[in-house]
Amino acid sequence: PPPAEKFEYQAEVSRLMDLIVNSLYSNKEVFLRELISNASDALDKLRYLSVTNPELSKVAADLDIRIYADKENGVITLTDSGIGMTRQEIVDCLGTIAQSGTAKFLKALKDNKDAGGDNNLIGQFGVGFYSAFLVADRVTVSTKSPKSDKQYVWEGEADSSSYTIKEETDPQLMIPRGTRITLHLKRDDKGFADPERVQKLVKNYSQFVSFPIYTWQEKGYTKEVEVDDDPAESKKDDQDDQTERKKKTKKVVERYWDWELTNETQPIWLRNSKEVIAEEYNEFYRKLSTSIWTHWHHPTSQLRYGEVEFRSILYVPPVSPMGKDDVVNQKTKNIRLYVKRVFISDDFDGELFPRYLSFIKGVVDSHDLPLNVSREILQESRIVRFMKKRLVKKAFDMILGISLSENREDYEKFWENFGKHLKLGCIEDRENHKRLAPLLRFFSSQSENDMISLDEYVENMKAEQKAIYYIASDSITSAKNAPFLEKLLEKELEVLYLVEPIDEVAIQSLKSYKDKDFIDISKEDLDLGKRQERGERGSCEKEFGQTCDWIKKRLGDKVASVQISSRLSSSPCVLVSGKFGWSANMERLMKAQSA
Ligand code: ADP
Ligand code: MG
Repeated sequence: PPPAEKFEYQAEVSRLMDLIVNSLYSNKEVFLRELISNASDALDKLRYLSVTNPELSKVAADLDIRIYADKENGVITLTDSGIGMTRQEIVDCLGTIAQSGTAKFLKALKDNKDAGGDNNLIGQFGVGFYSAFLVADRVTVSTKSPKSDKQYVWEGEADSSSYTIKEETDPQLMIPRGTRITLHLKRDDKGFADPERVQKLVKNYSQFVSFPIYTWQEKGYTKEVEVDDDPAESKKDDQDDQTERKKKTKKVVERYWDWELTNETQPIWLRNSKEVIAEEYNEFYRKLSTSIWTHWHHPTSQLRYGEVEFRSILYVPPVSPMGKDDVVNQKTKNIRLYVKRVFISDDFDGELFPRYLSFIKGVVDSHDLPLNVSREILQESRIVRFMKKRLVKKAFDMILGISLSENREDYEKFWENFGKHLKLGCIEDRENHKRLAPLLRFFSSQSENDMISLDEYVENMKAEQKAIYYIASDSITSAKNAPFLEKLLEKELEVLYLVEPIDEVAIQSLKSYKDKDFIDISKEDLDLGKRQERGERGSCEKEFGQTCDWIKKRLGDKVASVQISSRLSSSPCVLVSGKFGWSANMERLMKAQSA
C-alpha cells in the first residue's frame, strides 16, 4: 500500500486569536496584569543575565515599568527597561501563538543547571500577550534587545491574521533598551485609559511585582500665595502707618503631573517576619480590609506540599466590619491568592477557606502553584485541599490564642462578634469539631453573667455526672424559670443555657465533648442516673398510674403520653418533648420561620 501522507495542521489564525482572547479570560481587565507580568519577566531576565555578563551589568540599573494612560486619546503605553526582543525573537514570541520565550528561557536555565532558584519568572503558556486585544484594536510593540543595535516595531490588529515588523526610525521613539507597548483601545474600552483606573488595576493585580511600577498621575500640593489687597482696602491702609500693613495670603492648589510609584516591591509575607514591625502588619491589614479596627495577626508562615511551597498571613479582626449580624452567606473574598506575587483570585467560595471563617482576612502566595492557562483556576485540587487544611489550622491556632489571652475581654469581644460564625462551623464542618468545641461559650445555671467554656463546664462536673446538660430557650430568664431545671438545680448539676437560635443545632451537631454527651433536659426520659430514684418511681407509678391514664384520656391527641417523673421537685407537672421529636425551642423557631 502507498505510505500514509503526512499533513500539517492548518489554523485560521484570526479565529484562533479570537478564541484565546475571548474565551480564555473571564475578565477584560486582566490584560494589564498580563502585560505587567511580561514586563516583569523581561526585567528579571535582564537582571539574571547581567550577573554573569559585564556588558549588561552596566545597564542593569533602573529596572522599572512605566505606564502612561492618555485619557483623551484612549491610549495606554507600557514601557519596561528589560531585555527587549531581537527581530527574530519578535517573530518567535509574538508571531507564534502559544510560544513562550519565557518558558524557553527557564528551560535553558535548568538545562544549564544554574537555575539558581532565584528568579521570579511568571510567563509559561505563551498566550498572555494576546490579552491586549481584549481591550485594544491595535497594538504596537517597539523593542530593543541588547543583542541587537536596531530597534523594531511589531504591529498587530484585532481580527487580523497578519502583523507587520519594521525598524524604528523616529528618533523621538528610540529607547536605549527594553520594550514599549502601545494599546489603542477599542471604542468601548477607552475608559481603561484613565490614570486612576490604571493605578487601581496595578494595585489590585500587580501590587507585589518585584520591580517598581510607576504610573503617570496628576498630583497637587497646596501653597500659600500673596494676594493683592483690593484697592478700597489699600486706600484705607494708606492712611494708616504703611509699615503695619499686613500682607494677605491665600491657599491655592498647584497641580502637576509626575510618575508615581504604585506598587510595593517587597511584599510583607516574603520578608523575614522577625524584621517586620507590628505597625507594618497593621498597615497591611488596613489595605486588605479597609477597616480601621485592630486585629490579631499571625506572622507569615511557610509551608510546603511536595513541590509546592506557599506563604500566608492571616488576620483576625475583633469586630466584624459589617456588623454583628453579617453572617457568612455572601461571597466574602476574604483570602487573596497570589502566585509568584501576581494576584490570581479572591473568589473561591469556600474552596480555599471555609465560608464560616470568612471574617478572617489574609493573603496566600505560592511560587509554584499550577495554574491553568488563563491563570484564573487552580489546577490541582489536591494542593488546594492541602492549602485549605493548613490555612484552617492556622486560623484556629489564632483564635485559640485569643481565647487563651490573659485579657479575658479580648475573647469576650471576639465571641460577641464571631461566636455565631463558629457555631455555624459546628454545623458545617465536622472535620474541625475538635478545634471548634473548645472555643464555644455559653451561659449556664451557675454562671448567668459570664459565659463559660465547655472545658470549664467539664471541670465543674459532679463526680458521678456523665453528661453535659443544656436547655434551649429564647432568653436566660425563661431558661432559668423552666420547671425542667428544678431537679438539676437541687442536685447542683450545672445546665448550659442555649439562648441563641443557632445554639441548639450547633450543640446537636457536636453530639459530645470529651466523651460526654450533650443532653437536652427538656426531653422525655431524662435520666439523672440514680438507682434509688428509680425505686421511688416504681411505688409512685402504682399510686398514680390511674391518674395518668385519666389525664391522658382528657387531653387526648394533644399529648403523646402522660408519665410519672422524678425530675421535678416543686412544680406538679411539666410538658416535655418526645425523645426523638423536636425540642420546644426548635418548634418555636420553626414556627417563627414559617410565620
Ligand atoms: P508568556 O508570558 O506566558 O511566555 P506571552 O504571550 O505573555 O506568554 O508572551 C510571549 C513571549 O513574548 C514571552 O515569553 C516573551 O518571550 C516575549 N515578550 C512578551 N512581552 C515582552 C516584553 N515586554 N519584553 C520582552 N519580551 C517579551
Ligand atoms: Mg506573559
